[in-house]
Amino acid sequence: MRLRNKVVLITGAGSGIGRSAALLFAKEGAQVVVNDLASEAGEETAAIIRSDGGEAVFIQADVTDPDSVQKMVERAIGAFGRIDVLFNNAGISGVGALHEVEPDAWDRIVSVNVRGVYLPNKYVLPHMMERRSGSIINMSSCVAEIGLARRASYAATKGAVLALTKSMQVDYASYNIRVNALLPGTILTPFVENFLKQSYADPQAGLDGIKKRQLSGELGRPEDVAQAALFLASDESKFMMGSPLYIDGGVVFGKNA
Ligand code: NAP
Repeated sequence: MRLRNKVVLITGAGSGIGRSAALLFAKEGAQVVVNDLASEAGEETAAIIRSDGGEAVFIQADVTDPDSVQKMVERAIGAFGRIDVLFNNAGISGVGALHEVEPDAWDRIVSVNVRGVYLPNKYVLPHMMERRSGSIINMSSCVAEIGLARRASYAATKGAVLALTKSMQVDYASYNIRVNALLPGTILTPFVENFLKQSYADPQAGLDGIKKRQLSGELGRPEDVAQAALFLASDESKFMMGSPLYIDGGVVFGKNA
């Protein structure tokens, strides 16, 4: 029960890492506000939690839309009285070297991955500041630290999230709010399955190539990232501030051959 008495809001929790974190956080005693763009997927996450005896509500919202996010935050506080942990997890993938990325695709990924982190933070922070307490987890990626082929737009957004995290930490430390970033390597979720289909004529060959760049020889699982998020959400990480936490099978600091 590492999150007993904590209220957690997770964006993009209808799928992949967000869903896995929602299920784990609920098992650890949190009251979970599940957000997603897709109602069916988000409702399903909340229903699984409730059927396991946990507490969860689903709130549909688009993290790129200020009105939608503001209403989500108000409804979350209406449901559980406060938000102790905000996990800004929602994100989309982008493929291509810079010259291959069309302006609309660029704007879309920047909107979801950067504006979609800025907006929930903007509307949750005043509540955390008033209570002088909170833990914020911003989803970056190991591509913020290393160059990977044909990931220009995605890397730009995840680098922005990491820089934002450090800057936010300085501004909110005096309110007893911690702000940290997660930097996963390649984790097998629908997001990566889509990336493989978009990027490779032979997705299985693409997958085998990705496995080779991991020191682990395997892709990560959503549960691996959820466990790291649990640590950042809990008071066990109370001395971690403005830090990147890598869960990457050795991709950033290791060298394979
Ligand atoms: P996923 O399975 O695709 O889950 C992402 C969720 O975010 C989806 O349910 C998606 O809904 C939702 N979402 C997208 N746009 C949204 C919006 N505007 N408002 C609210 N929700 C929205 O992906 P994942 O692999 O779990 O990734 C989660 C996060 O981890 C992302 O930020 C990703 O960049 C990051 N990450 C992933 C990996 C990896 O290898 N998987 C590695 C590093 C970092 P829809 O399905 O309706 O679009």
